[in-house]
Amino acid sequence: MLVVLVIFTAMNPTFLQTPIDYLKGVGPNRADILRSELQIHTYQDLIHLFPNRYIDRTRYYKTNELAPTNAEVQIIGKVTQLKMIEGKGRRLVATFKDDYGSIELVWFRGHKWIREKIKLQTPYVIFGKTNCYNNSFSMPHPEMELLSEHERGLRSMMQPIYPSTEKLSNKGITNKVIHGLIQTLFKEAAPHLFESLAAPICERLKLMPRKEALLNVHFPQSQEALAKAQYRLKFEELFYIQLQLLQKNLAHKTKIKGYPFDKVGPLFTTFYKDHLPFELTAAQKRVLKEIRKDLGTHAQMNRLLQGDVGSGKTIVALMSMLIALDNGFQACLMAPTAILSVQHYEGLVELCKPLNTSIYLLQGSTKASERKIIHQKLENGEIDILIGTHALLEDKVKFKNLGLVIIDEQHRFGVKQRGKLWLKNTYPPHVLVMTATPIPRTLAMTVYGDLDVSVIDELPPGRKAIKTVHRYDSNRLKVFAFIKDEIAKGRQVYIVYPLIQESEAMDYKDLMDGYESISRSFPKPDYQISIVHGQMKPDDKAYEMQRFVEGQTQIMVATTVIEVGVNVPNASVMIIESAERFGLSQLHQLRGRVGRGAEQSYCILMTGFKLSNDSKIRLETMTSTNDGFELAEVDLKLRGPGDIMGTQQSGVLHLKIADIIKDGTILKIARSEAYQLLKEDPLLQKEEHRIIRFVYAQLSKYKNIWNYIS
Ligand code: ADP
Ligand code: MG
Repeated sequence: MLVVLVIFTAMNPTFLQTPIDYLKGVGPNRADILRSELQIHTYQDLIHLFPNRYIDRTRYYKTNELAPTNAEVQIIGKVTQLKMIEGKGRRLVATFKDDYGSIELVWFRGHKWIREKIKLQTPYVIFGKTNCYNNSFSMPHPEMELLSEHERGLRSMMQPIYPSTEKLSNKGITNKVIHGLIQTLFKEAAPHLFESLAAPICERLKLMPRKEALLNVHFPQSQEALAKAQYRLKFEELFYIQLQLLQKNLAHKTKIKGYPFDKVGPLFTTFYKDHLPFELTAAQKRVLKEIRKDLGTHAQMNRLLQGDVGSGKTIVALMSMLIALDNGFQACLMAPTAILSVQHYEGLVELCKPLNTSIYLLQGSTKASERKIIHQKLENGEIDILIGTHALLEDKVKFKNLGLVIIDEQHRFGVKQRGKLWLKNTYPPHVLVMTATPIPRTLAMTVYGDLDVSVIDELPPGRKAIKTVHRYDSNRLKVFAFIKDEIAKGRQVYIVYPLIQESEAMDYKDLMDGYESISRSFPKPDYQISIVHGQMKPDDKAYEMQRFVEGQTQIMVATTVIEVGVNVPNASVMIIESAERFGLSQLHQLRGRVGRGAEQSYCILMTGFKLSNDSKIRLETMTSTNDGFELAEVDLKLRGPGDIMGTQQSGVLHLKIADIIKDGTILKIARSEAYQLLKEDPLLQKEEHRIIRFVYAQLSKYKNIWNYIS
């Protein structure tokens, strides 16, 4: 009883909810600025203002250990000589020596004061950034302290550097001031900082206790203690996010019923035994098993299927749909573009020929009369599989009994649209979302943590890796000669131009200029060229596309409309114009249009000479790897998680201390701990999970997890 009472008192959050105005040293002016600039409203917010970085004052460098980085270092040594250098860039220069060599200390200002103050031949500790020129190092405006005083100093060795803004520093709220405020606060708040994780978890993972972790994050006693403190706080942040996501997933499974597809019937079996055009890869088999398992339960499937371009997601989609059909249900497949939906339609009709299934295509351009027939047949169950674009989402489209929805390239659709399909009948259909834009695993765990994820991580056998090169525009003639060689071998070529909405008119002109110049270099009748872009009528697009698919044209000039899904195995060269303007995932998607046949394929990235650093990294990454996941990791690093598909809506990315890019390992541990916990104690009823239950209960109240802990 007493224990309970003590815990309860310690958890009493009122103290930490005290408005920041009341903290000694704050006052109304500073409080306003803290609120507007750093969103610090309460004591608690201040305690959870985590430093961005630390300056390491625990290590002393020797002068022969310096490297040309921009890191700050400290060195022990003596000033042996001081001299003024006159003229332009007038400066005071000191020679600073230790037993291993020397560097120069340089001052451009405050000469008089320094000359008077500095003691020659006396041990100092200097601290600052070094510059390197011709292999000799200098340090401008170093912080200097006599070694004797330095040794007596009581300050913490690792200096935390807090987030700041221009306004904060203008108003004199410097890093030192913030640190001071936190120190003041800590003295009072210490008794109110309670443990927020269950003892078994802390013990198993050897986590630093919460109070100690908070203390060390602000006042690190050593590198080691800081690392442990950060680990603990990052773990905590990620753990509760994962707990929330997994709980949602679990609730979904127990609450949302779906139709159980418990039969594996004749369609699936016949297709698998007699009509599969190739042996499935091990990854495809594994994923199918996962899907079958989902469909067999009475819970609604909600699964994300990730697989790189060309990994063979379509056949998995088809076989999943056959399971639905075998159980007496309809299925639909939604694709983001008309071109892609036509391709899916044609491909599936071909594959299903021997099965006697009824497959229909519905697009925006489908004629009213035909549409009416489709609507009718859907409602009376004469259509087994419906394929189409957004047109599937129209209110008039009503299924008799829709059992499975497959969404291809889901990032093209909003989340809302995804929900809309679910409303078509009483039980929600099972949902399989497919994407070829690999999301780094860590991000998927966070953003789609409430979805089940399957991954096809293997390409069908016999594929030759695509060779990717970067060429400057000035080499265009050579590139054209290469294209001619490939065409002479019977291959086909894509040439893609960027089309970005903001500069549409200009891009359109580039495309047309490009088309003209290509037409001149590849004259009829030897060469035939298709062109496809967004301003064409759907029928014309389809016609041009078809000519290329059938091999009547050898070159396809296009904008990114062909980015997704188009499958022409005979095409072996992908030329991307102004490649520096594309994002990594888009480049990778485009490259995925080739390398689908048995021939060696090529991707040529064309650019001008002027390239930004990020563009250079993107181009280098593209030429060095074909692995979509590796690319996705680089993309995440370049762009940050906020820009990656679909993540903008996701509040879970506003992490305070953990870093989704760097802390993938902690994330995995946090997820597995959360998973174990829910498996063992789904309702968090056990006594030892009391704290977790308490913290978790607050989660629904606050968006930011740090708002409830304490
Ligand atoms: P994506 O995952 O990009 O949608 P697709 O499903 O379009 O890939 O498959 C790409 C190509 O690979 C298609 O031509 C398809 O027929 C072929 N394919 C898929 N699976 C296999 C396999 N197991 N063995 C051989 N070829 C396969
Ligand atoms: Mg596909």
